[in-house]
Amino acid sequence: MAKRDYYETLGVGKGASASEIKKAYRKLALKYHPDKNPDDASAEERFKEAAEAYEVLSDDTKRQQYDRFGYEGMRDGPGGFGGGGMNMDDIFSQFGDIFGGAFGGGGGGGRKRRMKGSNLRIKVKLTLEEVAEGVSKKVKVFKQVQAKGVEYTDCPTCHGTGQVRRVTNTILGQMQTSSTCPDCQGTGQRVTRKPSGADNLGMVREEAVVNLEIPGGVEDGMQLSVRGEGNGAPMGGVPGDLIVMVEELPHDLFQRNGKNLHHDHYISFADAALGATAEMPLLGGKAKIKIDAGTQSGKIVRLRGKGLPSVDSYGNGDLLINLNVWTPKKLTKSETKALEELRDSANFQPEPDHGERGFFDKVRDMFS
Ligand SMILES: [Zn+2]
Repeated sequence: MAKRDYYETLGVGKGASASEIKKAYRKLALKYHPDKNPDDASAEERFKEAAEAYEVLSDDTKRQQYDRFGYEGMRDGPGGFGGGGMNMDDIFSQFGDIFGGAFGGGGGGGRKRRMKGSNLRIKVKLTLEEVAEGVSKKVKVFKQVQAKGVEYTDCPTCHGTGQVRRVTNTILGQMQTSSTCPDCQGTGQRVTRKPSGADNLGMVREEAVVNLEIPGGVEDGMQLSVRGEGNGAPMGGVPGDLIVMVEELPHDLFQRNGKNLHHDHYISFADAALGATAEMPLLGGKAKIKIDAGTQSGKIVRLRGKGLPSVDSYGNGDLLINLNVWTPKKLTKSETKALEELRDSANFQPEPDHGERGFFDKVRDMFS
C-alpha cells in the first residue's frame, strides 16, 4: 500500500492542534479496531496506518521532523529500516489508553496485556566503502531472553485472562466492571518453574548475534531500528527493538558531503601547463581523467555518479576532484635556470580572464 501523508491519514489539517489530532486518531482507531473488524485485513491496515500517523504527529519532535523532512526524517521510527510500520502489540502497549473503556478493559473481549521488552542501543562503525555498498554485519549484543526451561501457568487469580471482573448490584441492576489483574499485571501468566540464574519473570541475559542489513548511503548519526531484536519480554511478550547508531569512520582519500565525495589531487606544474592524464582513486576502483593543458589550480573535475548512493536509492552523488597545482619546493640549478628564463615570458604572466570561475563560484559548486 502506498504511504499516505500522515495528516491525510488522520484527516486533519497541517495546523491541527494536539487535541484535534488525538480526537481524529481515536475516531479512526475505534472505527478500525480489530475487535470490531475481526479478520478484516484492510481494517487492520487502516488501524496500523492511523497508529503510525498518530505516533508521529502526537510527538512534537517527530512531528517537526516529519513536517521538515517527510518520511525521510523518521529514521528512528515507522519507516526506518527493518520497520514495516507498527505491529498490533506496539499499538496496544503504546496507545491502549486512547480507547478508554471502549475495548479490552471494558466489554470488548478482554485483551490480555502483553509485556514489551525494552529497546537496546548499539553503535556500528562503518567505513566509507561500506557506506557506498551497503553492508551486512553480524553484531553481538547482550539481551534479555526467556530462560530455557522456564514454565508459566495461567494466573489462578484471573484464570489466564489478565482481567478481573467484579459484579456489583446497583439500583439499575447488576453492573460488571473489569480491571487489570493485580497478581499478574494483566499478562495472565505466572512463573511456576524458574531455572537458576533467571529473574522473577523467568528472564536471563544472554549474548546473541544479530545480523544487520545496512543499506547503502547511510550517514553518521543516523539511527536504524531493527524490529524485535531488542530485549525480549517475559511470557511471550513483544521484544523491543535494536536501535543501531551509525558512526562513519574518516577516510584517507575522500571527504563526504551528503551524497557527494571530495578528493584533493595534486598535479605537477608541468602537467598543469602541458596537459596530462591522471589516475584517480574511486571508492572501489580507479578512473583516468584528462588534465587539460592550461589547467588552473583549484579547478574542480566532477565525475558524475561516482559518489555515494542515496539511502532512498534516488541515484548516486558525484565525486568532485579538486585539482591543486603543486609548486616545487626545491629546484636544481638547471631547473632554476630554466624557470629564470621563463619568468618574464609573456605566457607566464597571470591573466585571469573574466570567464574564469572565481573562488566563491567554486565553493557554491562544491556544495551543490
Ligand atoms: Zn492474573
